[in-house]
Amino acid sequence: MSKLPNAGTNIFTVISGLAQAHGAINLGQGFPDYPMDEALMNLVTKAMHGGHNQYMPMAGYLPLREAIAQKVHQLYGTQIHPDQNITITPGGTYAIYTAITSCIGPGDEVILFEPAYDSYIPNIEINGGKAVCIPLQYPDYTINWPAVRAAITPRTKMIMINSPHNPTGKLLTASDMAELSAIALQANLLVLSDEVYEHLIYDGLQHQSVLRYPELAARAFVCFSLGKVYNCTGWKIGYCIAPQALTAEFQKVHQFNCFATNSPLQVALASHLSVPETYMGLATALQQKRDLLRALMADTPLRPIPSHGSYFELYSYAAASNMPEAEMAGRLVKEGGVATIPVSAFYMNKTDHQTLRFCFAKRASTLEAAAKRLRAFAW
Ligand code: GLN
Repeated sequence: MSKLPNAGTNIFTVISGLAQAHGAINLGQGFPDYPMDEALMNLVTKAMHGGHNQYMPMAGYLPLREAIAQKVHQLYGTQIHPDQNITITPGGTYAIYTAITSCIGPGDEVILFEPAYDSYIPNIEINGGKAVCIPLQYPDYTINWPAVRAAITPRTKMIMINSPHNPTGKLLTASDMAELSAIALQANLLVLSDEVYEHLIYDGLQHQSVLRYPELAARAFVCFSLGKVYNCTGWKIGYCIAPQALTAEFQKVHQFNCFATNSPLQVALASHLSVPETYMGLATALQQKRDLLRALMADTPLRPIPSHGSYFELYSYAAASNMPEAEMAGRLVKEGGVATIPVSAFYMNKTDHQTLRFCFAKRASTLEAAAKRLRAFAW
């Protein structure tokens, strides 16, 4: 008997495998193809030679937790306690899984929005919970708040949000946060906020972190990724911020899973993260990449659905073809030499709008080579 009968191999593994097999340019899975900061790599080497090779405290290296508390205070004006509110984790996805596992059980309902990052629903279902999926409104991908109110039942325990949003690159607004607060307080819901792209915000907009809103932060697990901040997604390191009582439950699960996150990376990140310049320039660099891909796409039948954050922008090929997304993504990777993610993969019922997700966190030369192939492709 399977505990996840509906789960196959995840879409990122499938598409990256196809990309490799067919020599395609991989704009599918979200990871940078440019080098990370050499100074940070050197700090890891130094930490290893300095003897930081044994277990860290279960919650994480204290100086790293202190640096995070300081960063949160500077950015969002919220005071969090390094000892009570932070757990360092092996990645953002792990933090989300642990948060859900620590509080969702059989019969509990969790409201989430589709398209949704692919791990959310299996994370809920493996714990016996029920995912209640609300579609974002195409093509703007805004939240239909009356639909959220209508979906609440006595069994609703949690609502999950994600801004900047994967796969659409949409941002929640201050008015979304007000709606969320009203509903979460009224129905006494926990909130899980996936903020792994917090520093990838474009067009002069502002990140609406749950941590800016004390009434929400008081009932929320907020999950972050340092791999996204420092161009090293393979490091698999992140953290979860939550109120003391929720952090205690989170750590009950964490201590019996990986116990503690790897040591040298934490030591290196503690000093690197305490310098705001190491993360504040990220948005400008990535916005240029988004804009470059958009400009290059002008000569193809693909039309952007504007992204304001994350590594991703969705493009519609509806003007050129009505082929289903999965089929088109398959043709594109095999015949066109470009890997993308079909957005239908982020819906339980495989909703299909003829849109594909492109990752623009790539060198200019990679984006140019991909665009050349897209222009030559027989749509
Ligand atoms: N977060 C990355 C994406 O959305 C991929 C993570 C993964 O491969 N599981 O593409």
